[in-house]
Amino acid sequence: MTSPLIPTSIVGSLPKPSWLAEPEKLWSPWKLEGEQLREGKQDAMRAAVLEQAQRGIDIIADGEQTRQHFVTTFIEHLSGVDFEKRETVRIRNRYDASVPTVVGAVEREKPVFVQDAKFLRSCTDKQIKWTLPGPMTMVDTLYDAHYRSREKLAWEFATILNQEARELEAAGVDVIQFDEPAFNVFFDEVADWGIAALERACEGLKAETVVHICFGYGIKANNDWKATLGAQWRHYEKSFPLLQASSIDTVSLESHHSNVPLEVVELVRGKRVMLGAIDVANDAVETPEEVAQTLRNALEFVDADKLIASTNCGMAPFRRDVALAKLSALSAGAGILREELIGARV
Ligand SMILES: [Zn+2]
Repeated sequence: MTSPLIPTSIVGSLPKPSWLAEPEKLWSPWKLEGEQLREGKQDAMRAAVLEQAQRGIDIIADGEQTRQHFVTTFIEHLSGVDFEKRETVRIRNRYDASVPTVVGAVEREKPVFVQDAKFLRSCTDKQIKWTLPGPMTMVDTLYDAHYRSREKLAWEFATILNQEARELEAAGVDVIQFDEPAFNVFFDEVADWGIAALERACEGLKAETVVHICFGYGIKANNDWKATLGAQWRHYEKSFPLLQASSIDTVSLESHHSNVPLEVVELVRGKRVMLGAIDVANDAVETPEEVAQTLRNALEFVDADKLIASTNCGMAPFRRDVALAKLSALSAGAGILREELIGARV
């Protein structure tokens, strides 16, 4: 399937309809249950697909309408993790949370998202993307009383993720994205085993593989942390050279309203780059020209045919109308740059 120049895609989540879960809230509990919940999730996915398509998004995602949390929902489907037995740990060195405990060997007894991905496939003829948590980010949301080694547990998760990813690919998913915000925190582990575990998760896939590394949702704990990071966020300098040498196809990073110096993009030269041109911590809707300018600035460091326009991160905490207006701005902005580049060629 061919993509247009500067295709557009959301990073992950969209707000859920208010009849499905309480709006403007992360990890909001479901309002339905049983068969009604199953149907409700599908209706929400249909709406998310329709909104993305009508607003000019090229690579369609499920907007995470079928899950409560980008990491936990996947782990809930695995054996070896006790959700009743909780311990308090520090997540990404940033905030304390009560988390489930790994009590035995972790295993995927059955597919987790494959049915949902098949449903998404049935909703659109466009390219589709599915997101999964990365191994390191999964490890960082658990208390491990069994392996007692972050690396060993990551390796087990990588094997499980690879099983799931292969089945997602077989279900017709074109792009598989792994969310690894932990890559912006644990630099030594990224080099020691983080990238290797991610490559293991992607082993044998023909689908396009993406790693999304960000500074998190626009929630208070993340915004407070960002305020301590100074004028230049150079975190990507640690992971990008390693990713450039890896088998991962695409690197997703945030840019608009972010203190990330754009020259870091040069460090993954040769890879496709998904650049965040929509702020997810501010509900002011970008103008198309602002989006175009963010993308234009990156062209010094990435070839135009390798640039994908996206949001900085998920949009679940927004009002629905704000998130949808931001989708329109994203595709209009990418459209401005596309026209410019095509015009310059003739
Ligand atoms: Zn993110």
